[in-house]
Amino acid sequence: MSALRETFINELRRIDSLSQISSVLGWDEQVNLPSSEASSSQRSSQSSALAEMVHREFTGSAFSDLLKRLEDETDEPDKDLEIILREVRRDLHRAQKLPNEFVARKAAHESSTYHVWKNAREKNDFAAFAPALDKTMQFAREEAAYGGYGENPYDYHLDKHDPGMDACAIGKLFDDLQIGLVLLAEQILSLSEETAIPELKGFPKDKQETFLREVVESLGFDFTRGRMDVAVHPFCSGNGSDTRLTTRYDSDNPLDSLFSAIHEAGHGLYEQGLPHKWLGTPLGEAAGMGVHESQSRIWENQVGRSPAFWNRWEPRFREIFREPLADISSEQLFLAINKVSRNPIRVDADEVTYNLHVILRFELEQALFAGDLKVEDLPSAWSEKAEKLLGLQPTNDSEGVLQDVHWSGGAFGYFPSYCLGNLLAAQLWEKAMKEDVPDPSDSSKLLSWLQLKVHRHGKRMNLLELTENATGDSLGPRCLLQYLESRYLSLYRKTN
Ligand code: ZN
Repeated sequence: MSALRETFINELRRIDSLSQISSVLGWDEQVNLPSSEASSSQRSSQSSALAEMVHREFTGSAFSDLLKRLEDETDEPDKDLEIILREVRRDLHRAQKLPNEFVARKAAHESSTYHVWKNAREKNDFAAFAPALDKTMQFAREEAAYGGYGENPYDYHLDKHDPGMDACAIGKLFDDLQIGLVLLAEQILSLSEETAIPELKGFPKDKQETFLREVVESLGFDFTRGRMDVAVHPFCSGNGSDTRLTTRYDSDNPLDSLFSAIHEAGHGLYEQGLPHKWLGTPLGEAAGMGVHESQSRIWENQVGRSPAFWNRWEPRFREIFREPLADISSEQLFLAINKVSRNPIRVDADEVTYNLHVILRFELEQALFAGDLKVEDLPSAWSEKAEKLLGLQPTNDSEGVLQDVHWSGGAFGYFPSYCLGNLLAAQLWEKAMKEDVPDPSDSSKLLSWLQLKVHRHGKRMNLLELTENATGDSLGPRCLLQYLESRYLSLYRKTN
């Protein structure tokens, strides 16, 4: 590597280190921060100062000059460097359009809004959150106006999470999915509503933690390079050198903590599987949030809810939770794990109805950005869409519009990534099971296969390119619909 290339990579890593500090502060805010107004206000100032510093360092003339000198270098082209330059140019082009003071103002607002949302959610009070959310929307519009977009400011935010995607392409995929899914979900729901599925209650939290740590470690998560804590809304942050997972515990809902932990561990396995030698550069970063979600969802659902997985883990689960499982048969336990029901909460939703929750949020975000929906009217619009798509209405704001953390942090355009991730997860699973990893109980083989097909590429390919490369097919709903039908329709038909 030439001296200039080395200087450039080192500078990129130095700026990335500042972003990593910001990420640790964000993790700390959700895991450890005291609840006082003074604490959150101080954290908001810290986040804002750091965001402004990262932006200034990245968009400053020193870094741009270095990039220009490297582009003018006449050394032999290097494929890895070409991809790094392509991605850095893309990010820089976008970042340079955002004024420093805007970045600082937006970060301060988003940090303080998290606490407004948390309090409003506890009190079921959307009106207490609406003014802050309205301001967040204004920031999102302002950012899109600075950054530039094709048809709709929403496209700017979608592209930020999944490079190359826009509302038109996502809308087409979701329309195709919705046609098959609404029908299939109705069939499965009518069968499941006639099935007696036990409630799992009275599972001590400390024992839940013991069990899920064993599970997460056995999937291949390296606890010497990561940790797991508790947060209101489970998430994964950090990178492959220090991966932070979170989950939450409810003694009357042990499957929530378990599947949240497996989901976040799936994100963590992706981070830990990215090429270590390229950390701090785009080749050591995830391809986008859709690909990230494909990794969490494949472990959570295709693996974690499979018969093979529970053949392996049921004896240990019963050993730890002898009492609460005493009257529950294996068949009943498996039904509880694969329960399909009308649920107002996205993160608690089964995988059959889950994508309808995402489509609901995608349609609302589209309407907000198009100016067809005002923030203050979100609760009623939410109820209307929930009735249409899920066949239910939330009984309060916490079950509806306040349930997710995303909008409090300005993460508009993120929700579609969950569904895009589900589409990819189903395609990867079909490819793996049919061709390369025929034994689904062997999670280490599946992990190696995912590392080969997905993790090692970093940002080399975007979601659509990676799907074609890994599965030989374009991204679409066929595999997901077939997978849901074969897993759930046959399970409930067998039971009834
Ligand atoms: Zn996720």
